[in-house]
Amino acid sequence: KQKALIVGAGIAGIATAIRLAVKGYDVEVFEANAYPGGKLSEIETNGYRFDAGPSLFTMPQYVDELFTLADKNPSDYFAYQKLDVVCKYFYPDGTRLNAYAETKAFAKEIEEKTSEPAQALVNFLAYSRDIYSITNHVFLERSLHQLKTFLRWDTVRSILRFPKIDPFRTMHRANESSFKDKRVVQLFDRYATYNGSNPYQAPATLNVIPHLEHHYGAYFPAGGMYSITQNLVKLAEDVSVKFTYNSPVDEIVVINKQVKGLRTKGRDVLGDVVVSNMDVWFTYKKLLKKHEALHPQKILNQERSSSALIFYWGIKKQFPQLDLHNIFFGGDYQAEFDHIWLKKYIYQDPTVYINISSKYKADDAPPGCENWFVMINVPANSGQDWDKLVEKAREDILVKISKELGEDIKPLIACEEILDPRSIESKTSSYQGSLYGTSSNNQFAAFLRHANKSSKVKGLFFCGGSVHPGGGIPLALLSAKIVSPLTP
Ligand code: FAD
Repeated sequence: KQKALIVGAGIAGIATAIRLAVKGYDVEVFEANAYPGGKLSEIETNGYRFDAGPSLFTMPQYVDELFTLADKNPSDYFAYQKLDVVCKYFYPDGTRLNAYAETKAFAKEIEEKTSEPAQALVNFLAYSRDIYSITNHVFLERSLHQLKTFLRWDTVRSILRFPKIDPFRTMHRANESSFKDKRVVQLFDRYATYNGSNPYQAPATLNVIPHLEHHYGAYFPAGGMYSITQNLVKLAEDVSVKFTYNSPVDEIVVINKQVKGLRTKGRDVLGDVVVSNMDVWFTYKKLLKKHEALHPQKILNQERSSSALIFYWGIKKQFPQLDLHNIFFGGDYQAEFDHIWLKKYIYQDPTVYINISSKYKADDAPPGCENWFVMINVPANSGQDWDKLVEKAREDILVKISKELGEDIKPLIACEEILDPRSIESKTSSYQGSLYGTSSNNQFAAFLRHANKSSKVKGLFFCGGSVHPGGGIPLALLSAKIVSPLTP
């Protein structure tokens, strides 16, 4: 049997391990942390449980297909339910809006609560679907680095329809031409943050994202987001993948441009294939530091996606007006993004996202309480004074949501944990604490992500949010799907 070694047990590393084990490899995963999942992990404290990173689950079919690939029934491992309300939006002018999953209901809500006709939403979602139908085959499901992809008929057809994916204007421009009500423009601009980008810079192609949420749906896994990690690890173990925790890999051993294995804790492990799920920047800078000539400088210098500041608050009260996903918009969206991207700073009135998994999983909080995951988008780490920024942002957020909810939130905080760009960087080795690898702030971003296979080192492969096709759970899972057939 050929041996595959995987660096990192993030969601992409686990998915790659499953795929390679099913393909016939003997697979071993080395994880630096004591637990699997990387960003998709959990925090337990004082009777509260929090999903530490991702909170929005879309495209569950990419998880299911790993079970079917291994000849297992997904529902024997894993259950999830579709959300009727995808998100609740709160605007500074007092507007409250429910984004219903069902298009008709959502369109009616938009018509009733804003000055936008229902048809504008229907038209927009049709445009979003068209972008998906063109980009899906070319940019998401295949390697962009193999001639084979470009010789396929569906690729050629997609390329001919290229202008339809709207790459030549910004997302914000496109949304302004689709809607006249600023609140609706803001709602759809926010989707740029789903991959850590800026709607005032990113191409309108990113308007594909609402289609994923409103057509395929948003889901909640019965055991919380972390159960995605737990169940995939269980599946991996069932197909004989071996996990070794507390084992940071220090070097990928390459001799004569051929992978020989890796080095962890002073031990050499031989392998035929190495797949790095570690952020590609750190993979080169740390694990391949002896081989500087192999470093793809231009790709490594790409702008990084934004990061996040998260407060995990145990709240001694329940708020019936809140749901699983809640957005409290800031009053000046452009100023907010200018702060993140140009000033590399945090705006004083940021858009605040509150995720409350205890709405769906009651035992995530003690009776009568709620577990609040309170997040704002912040710049990637370039050495800002985070202690100061975090303290100020905490006060600004408390003032904002206390005002919106008509209740002083500070005295209700029973316990608190904080994650900021520094800790995201150190806990998961993500360069600059970026959540989604490189940003998508220009039209060429899709082509400038690192390939899933090394063109210079035989036997070296890459998966995860920092390489093709990009960040977020669905794309990280797709990177595993692309890597598997590239291996010998
Ligand atoms: P990671 O999760 O970063 O895993 C990499 C793993 O490799 C880690 O376990 C790390 O410890 C390990 N590792 C690194 N270096 C080494 C080494 N040298 N040796 C051994 N092990 C090593 N996505 C969504 O789809 N929906 C969301 O709502 C969403 N929200 C997010 C919110 C936050 C706060 C964060 C942080 C992310 C969010 N994301 C979301 C993005 C999503 O979490 C990531 O895109 C995805 O989890 C990335 O998975 P990965 O496998 O690429 O990498």
